[in-house]
Amino acid sequence: MTIKTRFAPSPTGHLHVGNIRTALHNWMFAKKEGGTFLLRLDDTDAERSKEEYVDAIRADLQWLGLSSDEEARQSGRFDRYQEQFETLKAAGRVYPAFETSEELELRRKILLGQGKPPIYERTALVLTEEQIAGFEAEGRKPHWRFKLDHDKPIEWNDLIRGDQHFDAALLSDPVIRREDGSWLYMLPSTIDDIDMEITHVVRGEDHVANTAVQIQMFEAFGAKTPIFAHEALLVGAEGKLSKRLGSLGVSGFRDRHIEPQSIVALLARIGTSDPVEPIADIERLVETFDFGRFGRAPARFDDEELAQLNQKIVHQLDYDAVKDRLPEAMGVDGWNVIRPNLHDMGEVDRWWQVVTGPVAPVEFSSEDSDFLMAARTALEDLEWSDTIWKDWTSALKASTERKGKSLFMPLRQALTGLDHGPDMNALLPLIGRDSVMSRLFTAAK
Ligand code: GLU
Repeated sequence: MTIKTRFAPSPTGHLHVGNIRTALHNWMFAKKEGGTFLLRLDDTDAERSKEEYVDAIRADLQWLGLSSDEEARQSGRFDRYQEQFETLKAAGRVYPAFETSEELELRRKILLGQGKPPIYERTALVLTEEQIAGFEAEGRKPHWRFKLDHDKPIEWNDLIRGDQHFDAALLSDPVIRREDGSWLYMLPSTIDDIDMEITHVVRGEDHVANTAVQIQMFEAFGAKTPIFAHEALLVGAEGKLSKRLGSLGVSGFRDRHIEPQSIVALLARIGTSDPVEPIADIERLVETFDFGRFGRAPARFDDEELAQLNQKIVHQLDYDAVKDRLPEAMGVDGWNVIRPNLHDMGEVDRWWQVVTGPVAPVEFSSEDSDFLMAARTALEDLEWSDTIWKDWTSALKASTERKGKSLFMPLRQALTGLDHGPDMNALLPLIGRDSVMSRLFTAAK
């Protein structure tokens, strides 16, 4: 059996970190199994679906490295939904209902008031021909419900949640189609999962109750039910559902200079029994992917953890992976010198300026100024080479009283304007002789 997963966002907004995580797990599982990853755009809602979001979803997945093998759009499949709707109608599995939302809401409140579960009571099924004719004469149009089979237990073995049981009699027959003929999520999704031969449905646990209903839809069509995996929800570092996470997406990550590899490494592992590790190679993450390691407790998304992971990932990035984002003059040597100092790629320019100058002026004591002048003279006598820092500081150690910090710090400050930063040994050849000389001169003045 060829494995096929799907990620099915509605293009009514940007992807947020929660659905990025779902996309990632679908993608990883498909890759691990040598299967296919489908991007399905659930765009039945013509009013709220926007082409700009479709483009943004594709671009975000691309940026994350989660490109799809196939793409489908629900808006192109209305004929097929109509056809399958007729099939269910002929089988008596859908029925028209005429209640207004006010009537339904009132009924709900009454049931709750009586301490009963607010399940739809199938009043539409006991309407007489005359009552229906009456509604139609009033110009009322029906919405449509799927008729659950109350005698059939609903069971599945969830790859994350284990054995699941639902009593169909405790569920409301879901509305699948509105008065105006437009589709709600439930039925088109099932028809697509069947037609597109989806083998594994991986989504958030907020869909568990939908799955119970959809299983009966698969059965009503005589189709094989896919395997389900419902992952625990994503919560903020404080352990609560967070509004902020609902709006945190790729553009927010990019603004914070977070690498796609860092997001992938974090989202691949939080909520699982595997540790979060700075693994920049997605293939390595794929190898360890296993629904059996997913927990039932919510997965915590911690910005601080992401920032730290990102720093470790940046320190692993090869020049080739980043060169398009570096100043042209930097070259591989420049990258290797500044890389260990970066928290994120947003700091590249700041550190590169230590090489190119100008550097921040530092106030020196008169002893330090004298020392810097002497150091400059000593440097004039030395042959400039890749080992110049060592040659120079050894010479100064011999010719002055200074050693350790009192020797190195004024030089670092004079040459970089900072008291910490890249390895001077590697930095000096990049700064170059002329700039070193003039920075020493300026500092000593
Ligand atoms: N469009 C649905 C959603 O975004 C898809 C859910 C599913 O994976 O079936 O919630």
